[in-house]
Amino acid sequence: MRLSKMLIKTLREAPNDAVLPSHILLLRTGMIRRLASGIYGYMHMGYRSIRKIEQIVREEMDAIGGQEILMSAVQPAELWQESGRWFDYGPELWRLKDRKDADFCLGPTHEEVFTDIMKTDVTSHKQLPMSLYQIQTKYRDEVRPRFGLMRGREFIMKDAYSFDLDEEGLDKSYNDMFGAYEKVFTRCGLDFRPVEADNGAIGGSGSHEFTALSEYGESEIAYCTSCDMAATVESAACSDDPASDEEMKELEKVHTPGTKTIEAVAEYLGLDKKQTIKALLFQTYDEQGQIDKYVAAFVRGDRDCNMIKLVNALGIPEHAIEFADEDKMGEATGCVGGFTGPMGLHDCTIVVDSELVGMKNLCAGACDVDHHYINMNYGRDYEGDIVADIKILAEGDRCPVCGAPVKHTRGIEVGQVFKLGTKYSDSMGAYYKDENQKENLIVMGCYGIGISRTMQAVVEQHHDDKGIIWPISVAPYHVIITIVKIAEEEQVKAAEDIYEKLRKAGIEVLLDDRKERPGVKFNDADLLGIPIRITVGRDITDGKVEYKMRRDEESSLLSVEDAIDTAIKTVNEEK
Ligand code: ATP
Ligand code: MG
Repeated sequence: MRLSKMLIKTLREAPNDAVLPSHILLLRTGMIRRLASGIYGYMHMGYRSIRKIEQIVREEMDAIGGQEILMSAVQPAELWQESGRWFDYGPELWRLKDRKDADFCLGPTHEEVFTDIMKTDVTSHKQLPMSLYQIQTKYRDEVRPRFGLMRGREFIMKDAYSFDLDEEGLDKSYNDMFGAYEKVFTRCGLDFRPVEADNGAIGGSGSHEFTALSEYGESEIAYCTSCDMAATVESAACSDDPASDEEMKELEKVHTPGTKTIEAVAEYLGLDKKQTIKALLFQTYDEQGQIDKYVAAFVRGDRDCNMIKLVNALGIPEHAIEFADEDKMGEATGCVGGFTGPMGLHDCTIVVDSELVGMKNLCAGACDVDHHYINMNYGRDYEGDIVADIKILAEGDRCPVCGAPVKHTRGIEVGQVFKLGTKYSDSMGAYYKDENQKENLIVMGCYGIGISRTMQAVVEQHHDDKGIIWPISVAPYHVIITIVKIAEEEQVKAAEDIYEKLRKAGIEVLLDDRKERPGVKFNDADLLGIPIRITVGRDITDGKVEYKMRRDEESSLLSVEDAIDTAIKTVNEEK
């Protein structure tokens, strides 16, 4: 491809709403184009990179026996009503109506559609196991679309589904997929880590996220400094201390004027925050959007409540809960903003973090303005309707596996694998007949890769202050040939010759034949991040060209033949 003919517009300055280096670079190189919040198109170079990633994914899916299909993005509401997710998925589901007022959605994922295929097309155990996948545009009306392709409302995803006879079969499918994901992300040049994850609204019994490590990642990961435990902070289990053998002291109500926060009351009473109980007040909604119930959740004063664990404990979807209107909740339940504790509440669900159960003589709000209780004890003074681990595993906490201290880091979730079990086959009725003609539920797994997010994650991990540094495997082009002076016939001729030879060898080449100053061309080549640059300039009179890898500082002067050979060899080794 000749740069003089390519529709390309690079920008010197970053657009001011972009903060993430990868987002800035994809916009500055003109590889992506914003149409609306969270809605992007891909220009020629960006799309080439996307297709490279898709191809890697395709090869690895095919290698483990996946069959590629392509389903419609538009899905009838009935399927989602069957699975129960028409409500559970919440406002992220992009709903639409046709002219006859029938409900549809734009698929955010395709469990329902693929389960329906099984339900109608598979009858016998002889047809299983099977795995199907597609690479397709997905739609999610995200609350906070941001960071370019990272969190789009329209994005490209590979979604695969496995169908097995039993749990054992699922374990094998899951492990195969896990291995394929490791290959995919390694081939894309990502520094990544698989971590244990929460199953969330999708349901099921086991899951891992593949996260590309990055300080800007939206996934927070807790990992052990000693063993190989690594999990999303949302899903990481906490291990509670053994119950304290301290004597229970007498419960006492004390005057604590103006101490509405944990900090204030701990300071006023001279307590450690760990000796206090923090209250979090919520209201939940039913399918009609009406307030269903009030929830008071209690965690140790220095802890953060983990919303995912809380909704799992309550058995409701994430979108069906929000912080309560404290005045209204006060009238209904007796809670008092800033002074709420587990004693004195009525008509609400009390959720107590498991750690509090074994702790003695704690301080909590008295459900009375300017008052707290001290020496409050679980069992004697209060109880929870639900007792569960609802806290975030914090840095410095003990690893739930080996007890060593835990640390946090950040990553970009580029893929996730789930064991679904029979959640969908059960709700939608997908069965197979075994040897004895007995009907059994099909056991499922589902597996996603964010293709467009992966593309941006690659840029996030591979750039410097001059621009992108594409790994050869996913680069839009392998080589860029820069002609220093277009007016010099010898330079043009040599460059055209190299261009032809490389193309014939199957190398993807850009020829910078624009009538621009050399500085502009070099800057653009660095910005675009093409892995190999061959510069044809003055030295061509001695038969030499400059050969430079974008990732290296140094360049070398090579003969034309050596430059061609080295480029071909490097590309073939790394593509
Ligand atoms: P997240 O927690 O980031 O919202 P998710 O758990 O909802 O992700 P999945 O339902 O597992 O995501 O989707 C599979 C993959 O699709 C994710 O691993 C991610 O790479 C990608 N993905 C999900 N949501 C988006 C989005 N809004 N924009 C771009 N890619 C996305
Ligand atoms: Mg999501």
